[in-house]
Amino acid sequence: MISIEQALALVYETTKPLPTETVRLGKSVTSFLADAISADVDSPPHNKSVMDGFAVRANDVKPSVVFNVLETIIAGDTPTKELAIGSASQIMTGAPLPTGADAVVMVERAELKEFDGKRTVSFDLHSIEPGKHVMSRAASFARGDEIFPAGHQIRPWDIGLLAEVGAHTVQVFARPTAMVIPTGNELVDASQTPGPGQIRNSNGPMLAELLRSLGADVNSPGIARDEVDELRAKIQQGLECDLLVLSGGVSAGTMDLVPKILQECGVKEVFHKVKVKPGKPIWFGVREFEGRHTYVFGLPGNPVSSLVGFHLFVRAALNRMAGVENLNPKTLRAKLSKSHQVRGDRPTWWPGRWVESQSCERIVEPLAWQGSSDLRSLCRAEVLICFPADHGNFAAGQEVQVSRLSNG
Ligand code: AMP
Ligand code: MG
Repeated sequence: MISIEQALALVYETTKPLPTETVRLGKSVTSFLADAISADVDSPPHNKSVMDGFAVRANDVKPSVVFNVLETIIAGDTPTKELAIGSASQIMTGAPLPTGADAVVMVERAELKEFDGKRTVSFDLHSIEPGKHVMSRAASFARGDEIFPAGHQIRPWDIGLLAEVGAHTVQVFARPTAMVIPTGNELVDASQTPGPGQIRNSNGPMLAELLRSLGADVNSPGIARDEVDELRAKIQQGLECDLLVLSGGVSAGTMDLVPKILQECGVKEVFHKVKVKPGKPIWFGVREFEGRHTYVFGLPGNPVSSLVGFHLFVRAALNRMAGVENLNPKTLRAKLSKSHQVRGDRPTWWPGRWVESQSCERIVEPLAWQGSSDLRSLCRAEVLICFPADHGNFAAGQEVQVSRLSNG
């Protein structure tokens, strides 16, 4: 049986990046950038006030000095008057500082008076340091700075920054088309009440959303029975996509028909079974037809096995299709909050959650977990803890690697 590292190397060798395309910013969330994005402007574009108040020369501000108010500058205006000694300009948040000004006194500390059409202001302050309530031009970024590297996956909050630098369209890797086929005679749709011997299909909806979160366009032809003709017909539909993900039917049971039918449909096996717990029976293959590739994963039916298989291998394939070179799951070092035992000769990916600690260390707690069908414990988890094989007993305080569920 191959190791996780060997399986990831095979995923890398088998898959390749999809073509790139230009999309509108509003359609780009979850896509991966094909090119780096650079700023075409400074941010902020001018020395700007971050308060409503009065632009001043910091050195002029002393108790009981009265300043002439030259003008009022609102956001969108350009100042017209240079600040001479003894003068101030009223200024609003976001507006550019006039030449000569280097600080802003907030309106709450100012007393504005108007007499005979002339405005004066005095401040309830002993002094003010230069730069107070001012954000300098280009403090956030300067024109020409790289804002995002190629390969970055666009998150909802990135859209604001992309808009700020004028990236109203972006060059991204094409979204893979994907199909999810949950298999099993025992499965009913989430909208139904299971009869005797039946369970609801959890994997189908879960895998579809995992795929979408990594940028795929997903369809499902619905649940496939463990029946050769039905499975074959649905698999053939799935082979029209870039990526086909099946759940169930890949172990050693009499109804585990998936690998055989995939091969009959022209899908070449790359690996079957990986040294990992849960998720050992995972199957991976590729079909090449008229120059097009479909990558196919058969994930084990138990939901947590499916999830771990997705987390390690389907994610890797999606990343590779989006131009990412390093397919290893990102891990962080953490210390165990309590002792823990794992059995068996396979590395085990175990649900865990962060624990508050007095120190700055990351502390992770292995959750009580009933095994690969226990989705409830998984959904209490924030991370998967990777326990290496053959160690058995792990002590409280021992260092482990953890992988965030939310972020590869
Ligand atoms: P299999 O890999 O088909 O042998 O299934 C292993 C276990 O996972 C069995 O207990 C199945 O009932 C369960 N299972 C299979 N598919 C699903 C699914 N889509 N949702 C929830 N459980 C499933
Ligand atoms: Mg089954």
